[in-house]
Amino acid sequence: MISTVSARVSRDVTPKEIRASFEFFPPKSPEADQALWSTIRRIEPLDPAFVSVTYGAGGTTRERTLDTVTRLCRETTLKPAAHFTCVGASKSDIDSTLETFIAAGVRHIVALRGDPQGGIGTNYEPHPDGYAQTSDLVAAICSKGDIEVSVSAYPEKHPESATFDSDLDALKAKIDAGATRAITQFFFDNDVYFRYLNKVRAKGITIPIVPGILPVENFLQTAQFAAKAGASIPAWFARRFDGLEQDRETRRLVAAAVAAEQVFGLLDQGVADFHFYTMNRADLAYAIAHLLGLRPASLSRAA
Ligand code: FAD
Repeated sequence: MISTVSARVSRDVTPKEIRASFEFFPPKSPEADQALWSTIRRIEPLDPAFVSVTYGAGGTTRERTLDTVTRLCRETTLKPAAHFTCVGASKSDIDSTLETFIAAGVRHIVALRGDPQGGIGTNYEPHPDGYAQTSDLVAAICSKGDIEVSVSAYPEKHPESATFDSDLDALKAKIDAGATRAITQFFFDNDVYFRYLNKVRAKGITIPIVPGILPVENFLQTAQFAAKAGASIPAWFARRFDGLEQDRETRRLVAAAVAAEQVFGLLDQGVADFHFYTMNRADLAYAIAHLLGLRPASLSRAA
C-alpha cells in the first residue's frame, strides 16, 4: 500500500515546495522526555518549517512547555513555536508568560483560547481580567513586535460555534488581529477540508490554512476525542481499523497507510503545507514526511 502511493507524483507540487511542521506535547516524566528528544532528533534533519509544543489544558504545562521550547531554541536548529492559551489567565499573567517565551528565543506563537476549565462541552468563562476571545490574545501577542502568530481552524466548525458562518467570522477576527497562518483540527475526509477551504476563501481569507494530519495509532482513543472535538470519523475510515484493537503492529501499519493516502490526496490537489500531530512519536510522521519527498538536509544538499 505504502509503496503504491509513494510512486504517485503530484501534478502541482514538487517535493522541494513541501513544508512540513510537527507538533509535540511537553513530556511528563524523564522517560517521556527521553522519548520526545529522540523524536526531535529524528525530525530535526528534515529541516521542518517549524515544530510546535502544546500548552496543557488551562495552562497546566506552562513550565514544561517553556522548558521544551527553551531547549529547542538552545540546542537544535529547529524553529520552535509555543502554543499558548488565554483560558484562566489574567492579561498581566499572559503578558509575563509571553515575555518569558520571547526571552527564551521564541518568535512564533500558536495562539489559542483553550478549552473551558470544566472540560470540553462545558461553558467557557473568560478570566475576569483576561482576554475574552482569541483574537484579543492575537492582538496582544502582535503588539510585542516581530512575532509570527498561527491560530486554529475547524473544518467541521468548533463545537461551540452556533453556525459555520460565526465560526468563519471568529477565524477572520483572529486574522484581522494579526495571525498569518491557521492550522486545522484533524480531519479524515479530505473533502471536508476542501469544502472548508472554499468557505474560508469565500470570506476573503487568504492566509495558509494548513491541514492538521493525525496518524491514528489508537483508533478508539481518537474516536473518543474526535466525538468531543466535533471531528467526524467516516464509516469507511473506522472500517480500516475494524478488528485491530488487540493487534498493535498491524494497527500501526494501517495507520501509516491511511495517513499516507490522506496526504497524497491533499498533495494531488495542490496542498504543500502539512502539520503533523506526532503524539511525540517520530516513526509514523517521519515515514509520511519521507513519502512526501522530505529528506534529511544533508542528503538534499548532496543530491
Ligand atoms: P477560538 O478561535 O477561540 O474559537 C472558540 C470559540 O469561540 C468558537 O466557537 C468561536 O466561534 C468563538 N469565537 C472566537 N473568537 C470569537 C469572536 N471574536 N467573537 C465571537 N466568538 C468568537 N488547546 C490547549 O489547551 N492547548 C494547546 O496547545 C492546543 N493546541 C491546539 C492546536 C490546534 C491546531 C487546534 C486546532 C486546537 C488546539 N487546542 C489546544 C484546542 C483549543 O484550545 C480548543 O479547541 C478550544 O476550545 C478553542 O480554542 P481556539 O483558539 O482553537 O478557538
